[in-house]
Amino acid sequence: MKLVFLCMLLSVWKPIEFQSNDLYFPRNVQQAFEKGTRSSDGRPGENYWQNSGDYNINISFDPKTLLLSGKETIVYHNNSPDTLHKIVIHLYPDYYKKGLLHNYPIDEKDENEGVTVEQLSINGEEFDLGLKGNSERLGTNLTIFPVKKIVPESTASVQITWHYTVNKGSHNRTGEVDSSSFFLAYTFPRIAVYDDIDGWDTWSYIGLQEFYNDWGNFQVEISMPAGFVVWGTGELMNAGEVFDKKIFDKYQAALHSDREIDIINAADYKNGPVTGTNQQLTWKFSAKDVTDFAFALSDHYLWDGSSLVVDKRSGRRVFIDAAYNKDSKDFKEVASVSRKCIDIMSNTYPAVPFPFQHETIFNGLDEMEYPMMVNDNSTDSRKDMVQLTSHEIFHSYFPFYMGINETKYAWMDEGWATIGESIISPMLNEPEDEGIFMREKYETIAGTDDEVPMITNSELQTQVSYSTNSYGKPGIFYWTLQNLLGDEIFFRALHEYINRWHGKHPVPYDFFNTFNDVSAQDLSWFFKPWFFESGYPDLTIKEVSKIESGSLNASEKWNVLIERKGSIPVPVYLEFILQNNAIVKFNSTAAIWQDGKKEFTVEEQLPGKLKEIKLGNSFIPDTNKKDNDRIINNK
Ligand SMILES: [Zn+2]
Repeated sequence: MKLVFLCMLLSVWKPIEFQSNDLYFPRNVQQAFEKGTRSSDGRPGENYWQNSGDYNINISFDPKTLLLSGKETIVYHNNSPDTLHKIVIHLYPDYYKKGLLHNYPIDEKDENEGVTVEQLSINGEEFDLGLKGNSERLGTNLTIFPVKKIVPESTASVQITWHYTVNKGSHNRTGEVDSSSFFLAYTFPRIAVYDDIDGWDTWSYIGLQEFYNDWGNFQVEISMPAGFVVWGTGELMNAGEVFDKKIFDKYQAALHSDREIDIINAADYKNGPVTGTNQQLTWKFSAKDVTDFAFALSDHYLWDGSSLVVDKRSGRRVFIDAAYNKDSKDFKEVASVSRKCIDIMSNTYPAVPFPFQHETIFNGLDEMEYPMMVNDNSTDSRKDMVQLTSHEIFHSYFPFYMGINETKYAWMDEGWATIGESIISPMLNEPEDEGIFMREKYETIAGTDDEVPMITNSELQTQVSYSTNSYGKPGIFYWTLQNLLGDEIFFRALHEYINRWHGKHPVPYDFFNTFNDVSAQDLSWFFKPWFFESGYPDLTIKEVSKIESGSLNASEKWNVLIERKGSIPVPVYLEFILQNNAIVKFNSTAAIWQDGKKEFTVEEQLPGKLKEIKLGNSFIPDTNKKDNDRIINNK
C-alpha cells in the first residue's frame, strides 16, 4: 500500500520548477524555500531561523528504588516569525507507560505509569494538568496551551518538576545495565522542535525511530549516593569535589595525556573509595551547543582514558575514554580503538576535527549514540567491537554536529555512520565482511515491494524498509557519490555542507543542493534513482569478444559489453584475469549512466592471454551476481 501510494504521488505531481534541479519537493519543504528560510544553492536562507532552549536541570537518582526525580528551568527562545499558541513537550520516559505503542516488547515489570509531572509553569502561569482544556497528553507528548502566547523574538521560562521509575529490563537506549550500573538518557521533559518545515514536531516516540532536538546549553546537576561515578555529556565542572584525590589526579593527567591512563582500576576499588565520602554527591555538568544530555553511572566500572590533539592548528584536545565492566574483555581495548577512530575522523574521513570536548564509551546494553556519550554492549570479537565503536562515534558528526532530524530522515545520519564505519574499520584491520555494512541486506530487498524510495519519511517506514533505507543503502549511496565526484570534489562538497549546516537543522534538499552547488553539476540524474524512484542495482556481462591478438607477443584486445539491467546507477569495476594469473583492473564511475543508456562497452588492451572476467566488488551492490563472471575459452 505504502509503495503504491508513494509511486502515485511521485508520478502525478510535477517537479517544482523554481529549483535549479528537478527533484520532487514536498509542499512542506517547498514553502520553506519560498519563505527564504532555505536557499536553493544549498545554504541556510536569508530568513533561516531555529528555536533553542537552555536547560538548567537538577536530577536525583536512587539506584535502589530506580526513582529518578528532577526539577528544571528551560529558557526557551522563540526565534520563529510565529506566535506560539502551544508548547509541545516530549516526555520520552512515557515509552515505558502502560498502554502506549512500542516497536519492541516491554517486560510487564518495566511497564509503569510514565512520567508524573508534579509541577509545571510557563512564564509564571501554573498549570494544573488534571484540569481539562489547558493541556493534552497524547503518546509521549504533553502539549500545553498557555494563556499568554509566546510571541516572535521572545523567551518563555518553563519550570517543570517530575519523577518516574527507570526501567530495570527492556533496555532500549536507556535503563539499568546491572544492579549498580545505569545508562540514563531522555530523562528530562524537553520542548519539541518547532521548525520552518513542519512547525511543531509531534512525533510520539515508539522505540524504532530516533530523535530530533533543538540546540541548547545544558547545566545539569546529578545527585547520587557516594561511591557511584557519573559520566555525562559536557564538561564535569566539579571533578575536585566528587572524586577521591588520587582518582582526581589520574583523571586530570588523562585529560592532557597522549598515553592511556587507567583512571580507575580494580585496585582502586579495593583500596578505598573512588569518590568523595559525603553521603550524597552532586555531579555538575555543563554542555554548550548540544542537542541532548545523557549520563551513565556505576559503582564498579573500570575507566581508561587519554586525550588526543584533534586540531593541529589550535592544539585542541579531546578526552577519549571507556567505562566498563571488568568481565567485558573486548572493552579493554575500546578506549584505544576510540582514540584511533577519532584520529582518523579528524584527519581522514570525514577529515573534520572532532567537534566535541570528550567522547565516553560506556559499556551498556545497546548500540546507541548520544552527544559525547555512547551506550555500547560488549561484543564477542574484536571485529564487532571495532565496527560498532567506529559507527557510534561517527554519529558525533551526524546527527550531533549537524542537528539532523533523525526521526524523519534516518539516512542523513545512519547512512553516514554506516559508510564511516565501513571506511574506518579496515584502517584498523577489521574490514566489513560485506565491504559496506548491510550491503547484502540492501541487495536482498532492492527492487522488491518491501522497498520504498529512500526519500520516504522514516516515520512511515517499518523494520525491513526502515533498516535498509537508513543504513546499508544510504551508506552505499555516499560511497558511490564519492566515487562519482572524486575525492577532491567530494570532500569539498562534504566540508561545505558541514560548514553551512553544523549547529542547524539541514533537510535532504539542503544536502542535494549543496552538493550540486559545490560540484557545479546538476546531480539530479543521480539523486533521482537513488532517492525518489523504485529500482535496483544490477549490472551484467552481456557480451565478450576478442578484437585483436598480438602477432609477435601474447597481448590481446577485448571488448566487454556491460548491460545495466537495473536503474540504480552504480560504478563499473572489472577484473581481467590472465592465464598467468596477472590481473588487469578497469574502473568507471556511475557517470557513464548519466545519459540514461543501458549499455556500455569496455575496451581493454591486455598484456597476456585472457582467462576470466569478473564484474563488481564488495562496495558495489548487485542484485544478481550470477551473470557477473565469465570464463573465457581462449585457446
Ligand atoms: Zn547508528
